[in-house]
Amino acid sequence: MDVIDRQTARSNGLTHYFTGRECRNHHIAERYVSTGSCVECMQEHALKTKIHPSAFTKTLSSVDAAFLSERVTARNELQAQRIAVQQKRLALIEEKAAIRAREIAYKEVGRAARLAAIARQEAGRKAATKLTRYWVQVGAAHMDAVRAYAYAKAKMRDPDVLFEDVAALKLQARGTSIPLFGHMEDIQSNIEWAAALYRNAGLQAAQLAAVEAARVKRDAEFAQMIEDQAAQNGQPEGDPL
Ligand SMILES: [Zn+2]
Repeated sequence: MDVIDRQTARSNGLTHYFTGRECRNHHIAERYVSTGSCVECMQEHALKTKIHPSAFTKTLSSVDAAFLSERVTARNELQAQRIAVQQKRLALIEEKAAIRAREIAYKEVGRAARLAAIARQEAGRKAATKLTRYWVQVGAAHMDAVRAYAYAKAKMRDPDVLFEDVAALKLQARGTSIPLFGHMEDIQSNIEWAAALYRNAGLQAAQLAAVEAARVKRDAEFAQMIEDQAAQNGQPEGDPL
């Protein structure tokens, strides 16, 4: 065994040094750089105190093991970080792609909706060209009913017909007459239906007036009767008026 003093051993990163001289227990053995203790003395001490001598070897190598495991842990952590960064980047790319897909889908839906609206308008315009204007006499109470009826009839002939084309709300009414648009085949019956409604409304008004007049007359007669009876009861017999 080569002689190496403690200072040299320490500066070379060694854990043991060797003087070549006996210790106080006459061992010629290596000594620990950290404590200066003789290795054989420490092993004997360990035997006496029932610590297995290999515990020292274990302790020594566990420093290396700890160092090694630290390095492994650090490397694993670095690797994990790299993987995490990579995954984040991939997720970002996927998210971007999803956003782009959504944008395209929205654009596509918007375009389809616009095209559908244009098609509806176009169909409506075409349907409107088949309508003819006519006038119906109608009471204020029945205007909405007549318009709805005319629209329903036109819609049955052509599903593309629009309410505003049938009702022509922008055109002014003339007195009790309103303008409507319809298919030639429906115009006559629509006018008749509206007229019947109008007549019926007049008839109903007359009936109501008659009923009301009868009620007033009956009330008056009843009041007169009560008055007459009161006059008869209140007067003594034979009393001259
Ligand atoms: Zn010793």
